[in-house]
Amino acid sequence: METTHEQLRRQAIQFLQGLQQAGMTDLPAATERNLGSLVFDTPQGAVGEERTEFTTSQESASAQPPTAEASPAVVSPETEKAVPSFELSDPYGAPSPASSRRAALDLLSQKVSHCERCSELSSCRTQTVFGVGNLQPRLAFFGEGPGADEDRQGEPFVGRAGDLLNKIIQACKMKREDVYILNTVKCRPPGNRNPREEEISNCWGYSEQQLDLLQPEFICCLGSVAARTLLKTTESVGRLRGKFHQYRGSRVVVTYHPAYLLRTPEAKSKTWDDMKMLMAAMGIEL
Ligand code: SF4
Repeated sequence: METTHEQLRRQAIQFLQGLQQAGMTDLPAATERNLGSLVFDTPQGAVGEERTEFTTSQESASAQPPTAEASPAVVSPETEKAVPSFELSDPYGAPSPASSRRAALDLLSQKVSHCERCSELSSCRTQTVFGVGNLQPRLAFFGEGPGADEDRQGEPFVGRAGDLLNKIIQACKMKREDVYILNTVKCRPPGNRNPREEEISNCWGYSEQQLDLLQPEFICCLGSVAARTLLKTTESVGRLRGKFHQYRGSRVVVTYHPAYLLRTPEAKSKTWDDMKMLMAAMGIEL
């Protein structure tokens, strides 16, 4: 079947939506060179090259985050109108194709890596810890913030708490690569203190954009910082766990953070109950 003009138009709009969700507001003017590097997935495979590339923006993004002073945008008024603006309670918009989702997440990750919104965290970190995993996940785990191991390796949940999370994921008949894992704050709070309200608020926009791009069917909040941030509540984990909540298009469960479970092993059975509830809703037999 031939790729129609309309299909290409829709894919172009979805690609631009993904970039906009990643925080990009301006694109370089179209030239023969960068038009040649824009490719999109189609039902027949990629048109052009195998991978979506956005050569000119990647070059400029690696030097510095995009700014309002960048070159003229190629987002047409018609395309801009097609990009919906969401309220927190809204369902997600149409999902982006996998290739543009990856490009938008890469761009967002680059932007986060330069972030200095929290002066203390940005000056103490070894690196930002953006997130990892399946880019079309049914389930995303939303944690609190990087610890020393995560700060060193640049990946969430890789220390002892990460080992326990891996065991929980395996007990749920899944692999770590099946899910996506992200944290509320992307920089390690020094001394493993809790992130402050201002830091959580500074970083929320990044997580919000990540989730908009990933559109997981289910989100599992690990601990009170994640649950309170996502659900905009002050309730404790004890009161939030054991039932489903809603965040936009995702069903949300809340359970204890693996680091808490390491300190309080008697709470493990409650987390297992939460996971059994979640797996039943996902249709996974344990
Ligand atoms: S925690 Fe988030 S908002 Fe704060 S400096 Fe790090 S990336 Fe930026």
